[in-house]
Amino acid sequence: MSISQTNSNTLFARAQQSIPGGVNSPVRAFKSVGGSPIFIKEAKGAYLYDADGNKYIDYINSWGPMILGHAYEPVVNAICDRAKLSTSYGAPTELEIEMAELICSMAPGVDMVRMVSSGTEACMSAVRLARGYTGRNKIIKFEGCYHGHADAFLVKAGSGLATFNIQTVPGVPASVSDDTLTAPYNDLEAIETLVRNNKDQVAAIIIEPVAGNMGCIPPSKGFLEGLRSVCDREGIVFIFDEVMTGFRLAAGGAQELLGIRADLVTYGKVIGGGLPVGAFGGRREIMQHIAPLGNVYQAGTLSGNPIAMIAGYTMLKTLKDDPSIYTKLTDTTQKLHQELDKVFAPSGIPYVINRVGSMISLHFSSKPVTNFADAASADNTLFNKFFHAMLQAGIYLPPSAYETWFISTAVSEADVQATLQAAAAFVKQYQA
Ligand SMILES: *Cc1c(COP(=O)(O)O)cnc(C)c1O
Repeated sequence: MSISQTNSNTLFARAQQSIPGGVNSPVRAFKSVGGSPIFIKEAKGAYLYDADGNKYIDYINSWGPMILGHAYEPVVNAICDRAKLSTSYGAPTELEIEMAELICSMAPGVDMVRMVSSGTEACMSAVRLARGYTGRNKIIKFEGCYHGHADAFLVKAGSGLATFNIQTVPGVPASVSDDTLTAPYNDLEAIETLVRNNKDQVAAIIIEPVAGNMGCIPPSKGFLEGLRSVCDREGIVFIFDEVMTGFRLAAGGAQELLGIRADLVTYGKVIGGGLPVGAFGGRREIMQHIAPLGNVYQAGTLSGNPIAMIAGYTMLKTLKDDPSIYTKLTDTTQKLHQELDKVFAPSGIPYVINRVGSMISLHFSSKPVTNFADAASADNTLFNKFFHAMLQAGIYLPPSAYETWFISTAVSEADVQATLQAAAAFVKQYQA
């Protein structure tokens, strides 16, 4: 059986005439898994509907933001009501204070926060602040971690760069990338060496506290604690990139779930409730170096935009007021994990499922996946086949083994069962 993709194919052909690659963000193009992307018409709850009228259970959820499912009514209504009061002023509003206060009340150790319009901007600005604050230039990031597309981060980055095997990015000057040092995820020894060899030169260590851009990879026991003490000892700013994990793993993000404090934290995805929002925040002592309080310049015409703020505020307030949301998310994801185990374990296909809270991924690997090298050595050709088999069965997974699946509260028991049936059919076909 094959789903009809006639309208999507027509749209994709047309899109390629006026948009590079036909998409506004590379991983959407299905280039690595093959085939052409489906064009979405609308979505509600757990389901996406495409231009050909096909229905899919959505495990991307806009790469995270739609944590309460699509077209979540309180957010949609808040956006509509607020839009009538004009969509932007370029002057301060009380709503921005409410948003900042809400974030500070949820995120551990965040005394002050600055709103931006994307996760990229948040990470880029946090690194500038760390450099301005310490007076040092170098930063350390981890192989396979993605912190957005700013120049300094496009070194051994995960997500789309891993998917398309882009090693060096034309347009990023060596003078910029030379200041970005990298180490394998979960390798504390490598960090000690880097810090020793670059004594008093490292401004920041930036990390995804639970990695989600090489599939899902949890930090090993003691790893983040070790980084925390290196940063304390060496006067390095410890930045948690919680663009993916923030407000997803817990109301207080990975900091709360794992019980570790960063000096600066970056947010994106869930924080905007589906609108373009990012934020960075942290200790007052560091944040007060941001302009106009300090001289580290950072600005944005649409930063703190009222429509974006009301969407984000409504989303975060819901998450703060109802802790059972996180229990439900974890329960659904755990169920999916256990049942996928039942499908794959007897099959003889080597596989690894990593999961933290409502982040989960599947690697076709015969050894544990603890860093980027492990993720890259998995059978990603098999993943691509799995992706297409699932898509044909109405299950929309991220089109790359280097991406986490995102679960929303809208995913029902029946949706999980439908997903497993599709996976079981894939295994059966594989074995035949
Ligand atoms: C998505 C992501 C980013 C970039 O956010 P954009 O809003 O796409 O710019 C940064 N860091 C992490 C961990 C992400 O997952």
